Amino acid sequence: MRQRLAVGNWKMHGNLPDNLALLDKVAVAAGGLSRAVVAVCVPFPYLAQAQSALTGSKAAWGAQNVSQHRKGAFTGEVSAGMLREFGCRYVLVGHSERRQLFGENDATVALKTAAVLSAGMTPIVCVGETLAEREAGITEEVVGRQLGVVADGIRAEGLQVSILAYEPVWAIGTGKTATPQQAQAVHAYLRDFLGRRDTALAASMPILYGGSVKAANAAELFGMRDVDGGLIGGAALVAEEFIAICQAADG
Ligand code: PEP
Repeated sequence: MRQRLAVGNWKMHGNLPDNLALLDKVAVAAGGLSRAVVAVCVPFPYLAQAQSALTGSKAAWGAQNVSQHRKGAFTGEVSAGMLREFGCRYVLVGHSERRQLFGENDATVALKTAAVLSAGMTPIVCVGETLAEREAGITEEVVGRQLGVVADGIRAEGLQVSILAYEPVWAIGTGKTATPQQAQAVHAYLRDFLGRRDTALAASMPILYGGSVKAANAAELFGMRDVDGGLIGGAALVAEEFIAICQAADG
C-alpha cells in the first residue's frame, strides 16, 4: 500500500505565538491518525520552533526551498545540510511560486532535488501546468517535461525515496480546485510516465494533489485511485481545516 500524506505549505505566513498554537494542535492530531503522515513545511526562521514543538510527536516538518549548492559564497541561501541540522524530513522543490516568481527552471529543480537527497531528506517535487498551458492542451507535455528532467537527474534510486506533488498553477491559492477527475487524469499520467522507467517505482510513488484543497473537498480528491494525499497551502494555516484534511488523507 502506498504512503498517504498531508503536507502543509505555510508559504511566507506565521508568527511565533500563532505557530505554536497551530503546531501543538497538529502534533495532537497526527497522533490520532493510523496511516497518513502529517508534515508542515514552514519558513526557514521557524524551523527551530517546529522542531521543538513537533519532536516526539508523529508529525514531521520541512522546508519550502533549498539551495542547490552545498556551501559557499551564496548570500541569502540555505543549504540542505543546514535544513537537516534542524531535523527536516521533507523539502519542497520546484513549487510553482519558486518557478514563476524566482526564475527556477527544470534544471535548477533537478539540482535542488539531488541536494535534498544527498543530505538524507525527502524531496517533494512539485509539477504543474498554468491555465494557458491547460487551455492549450499541453498539460501532460508540461508535467512530463518537468518530471523528466528531475528523473534524469536523480534516476530510479533517487525517485524511490522522493515524493511527487501535482499542483496545477491555476488552482493554487485561487479557490479553484481541480475536479477529482482532472486530478486523477494527471496523476495517472504521471504514474504511467514513471512506469515507463520502472514499474515498481511507479506503483509505490506517492503522488500528492495540491491546489485549493480544503476540508470540504479533500475526501473526494484523496479518494481517487492515484491521489495519495495533499499538499495544502492556505488551509494548512487553519488548525481545524488542516486537521480535517489530514483525517481525509488517513482515509
Ligand atoms: C500550495 O501552496 O502548494 C498550495 C497548494 O496552496 P493552496 O492550497 O492555498 O492552493
